[in-house]
Amino acid sequence: MIDFQGIINNIHNNLIKEEVKGVVASYIPELYKQSTNSFGIYLQCINGETYAAGDAYTPFSIQSISKVLALSKAIAFEDNRIWERVDVEPSGNPFNHLSLLELENGIPRNPLINSGALVIADMLVTHLKNPKQDFLNYVRTIANDQTINYNTDVAASEKRTGYGNFAAANLLKSFNNLNNNVEDVLDFYFHQCAIDMSCAQLAKAFYLFANGGKCVNNVQHIPVSQAKRINAIMLTCGFYDEAGEFAFRVGLPGKSGVGGGIVALLPNNFIISTWAPGLNAKGNSLLGMQALEQFTTETKISIF
Ligand code: GLN
Repeated sequence: MIDFQGIINNIHNNLIKEEVKGVVASYIPELYKQSTNSFGIYLQCINGETYAAGDAYTPFSIQSISKVLALSKAIAFEDNRIWERVDVEPSGNPFNHLSLLELENGIPRNPLINSGALVIADMLVTHLKNPKQDFLNYVRTIANDQTINYNTDVAASEKRTGYGNFAAANLLKSFNNLNNNVEDVLDFYFHQCAIDMSCAQLAKAFYLFANGGKCVNNVQHIPVSQAKRINAIMLTCGFYDEAGEFAFRVGLPGKSGVGGGIVALLPNNFIISTWAPGLNAKGNSLLGMQALEQFTTETKISIF
C-alpha cells in the first residue's frame, strides 16, 4: 500500500521552501496579483480516495487547462469531424505562437495551442444555445460542483490586452476556419480561460478522462475512444514547447495553464493536480512540474 498522503505532504513541504519559485504571468495583468507562495496538490484516485496538501482548495485561474474541457465538449458535438478543422500534431512552439502563418491552410497544429483552442471555441459558440452559461454548466456538471464560476475581472483583463489572440482569431477568420464573429469567439475563449477552479475541483473535472469518458457521477460524456485521443493529445501537446520535457520527467498526460495550474492523470488510476503560480521560462508552473516529477518518481507509477 503506497502512503500517498505522506508522499504529497513531503513533496509539498520540501518544495515550498525552494527559493526559486518561478515568475507569475504578467501579460494578463489580473493574473499578476497571484503570489508565488501559493502551492497546492490534490490527488483523486479512481476508486474515490482523495489526498490534499497545501492550497488544494483555493480557486485560481485555470487558463489553458480549460482547452481540454472545451475540446471534450466540442468532441461530444462534432465527434471525428472536429479533426477536419484542427490537427493533432505537437507544435514545438509556445502556446501563443501564430503557427498558422507557417501552415498556410488555416488548420492549427493542435487543439491545445491558442489558435487551435480558438477553433474549438468557435465550434462551441455554434453548438451551444447560451455558450458561456452552457459551457459553465458543463464544467460544473463534470466536476460535480455548482460553485465553479467565471472570474470576470480576469476575462476583462485579457480582453484588454490579448492582442495576440485577436490576431490569431482574425487570421483564422481569413482562412475561413472561424464560422462566428471574431468578437464572439474571443469573448467565449477569454471567459473559458477565466474560470476559477481549485486543484480539488480540477481533479474531479478531469476524472472523466481517466475513467473512459465517464465523470465522477458515472455519466458517459464522451466515448471511450475519444477519451483515449484526448489523453494522447495532452501527452503530446499539453505543455506547449515543453511537452517532451514533461513526458520525459513526469511521464503522464496532462495540461498546464499560465495561472500556475497543472492537471495530469494515469488512465484507470488517478488524477493529480497542482497549483503554484510561479512559471518557468516556457510558461509552465515551476514547482508544479517538480512536484509531479517527484510524485511519479517516488510512487514509481507513470504511463511508462
Ligand atoms: N488565456 C491565455 C492566453 O490565451 C491562456 C494561455 C495559457 O494558459 N497558456 O494567452
